[in-house]
Amino acid sequence: MENVVIIGTGCAGLTAALYTARANLQPLVLTGLMPGGLLTTTSIVENFPGFPEGIDGYELMTRMQKQAERFGTRVKFESLDSIDLSKRPFVLTVDGEQVLTKTVIISSGAGHRHLGLENERLLEKKGVTFCATCDGALPMFRNQPVVVVGGGDSACEEALYLTRFASVVYLVHRRSSLRASRIMAERTLSNTKIKPIWNTTVVDILDIKQDRVTGVQLKDLSTGVETELGCAGVFVAIGHVPNTQVFQGQIELDENGYVVRKNGTETSVKGVFVAGDCSDPVYRQAITAAGMGCAAAIDCERFLAADTH
Ligand code: NAP
Repeated sequence: MENVVIIGTGCAGLTAALYTARANLQPLVLTGLMPGGLLTTTSIVENFPGFPEGIDGYELMTRMQKQAERFGTRVKFESLDSIDLSKRPFVLTVDGEQVLTKTVIISSGAGHRHLGLENERLLEKKGVTFCATCDGALPMFRNQPVVVVGGGDSACEEALYLTRFASVVYLVHRRSSLRASRIMAERTLSNTKIKPIWNTTVVDILDIKQDRVTGVQLKDLSTGVETELGCAGVFVAIGHVPNTQVFQGQIELDENGYVVRKNGTETSVKGVFVAGDCSDPVYRQAITAAGMGCAAAIDCERFLAADTH
């Protein structure tokens, strides 16, 4: 029987692992399909305190894992198939095997929201990407026109970053104004390399025959007219979706699928705690996820100490 199983190895999960390991709980951590979480896809992390020159996202996560392992954390490169939180001990099915545990910390993170177009999937890594900081500097985008889709802070951030490499950045948004914070919106709209295309959606990505992105099919939502726009890349920045499908029906989720948090890091099930992007639609920062991971570990430790079952 495990004391605690931590689901996910992003900043939240590995910080929870560090703290529960130092509390002698010998945590078991499941990496899922993306060990290290979304941060491993970032090049340089400049806003994690303690690294004045910045640190590579992959390296930061590797260091966090090593630090947690030093105190007895066991990291398994396995995925959760299903979970039964209806009674204690909780039962997890992990790559076909059952694991019993007294407590669970959910830190399963979030993934990029997709447009849902078939060619978006087929041309991923062939010009379609979800991360400008990961891919923006690739030779295929240098001095080429690129398209960013979205109207929030992420889209603005991606568009601004891409102005370093691309010849022109088209910002395609389905509304007539940005949803982004005022400072980001102003910075974006005053950049002469960024050309907004309002009231427009991407209805297709071209060209599957050439097996790479050569353009997009756009639809003007006010007129219904469709046009083609040539580009070498499509950067989709339309928000995130929490990785919580496996908890559906087991635990309270909000209408967008985020785990509902109460009294610190507690969830609707006693003995199950939550931390990081899977319960945070607002801040979504590495440092806030790490902070929540710490809080979840402390809540979990106190719960186990007080538990009389
Ligand atoms: P967001 O604020 O939810 O914005 C998503 C954008 O994508 C919206 O403009 C939305 O359009 C559009 N969109 C959603 N689904 C779409 C679809 N299927 N087709 C076309 N467009 C679609 O997400 P976000 O930009 O990732 O930001 C999330 C949170 O992180 C926010 O609180 C943000 O402030 C924060 N953040 C901050 C920074 C920063 O400060 N530097 C950077 C990144 C993120 P509508 O406007 O029509 O809904």
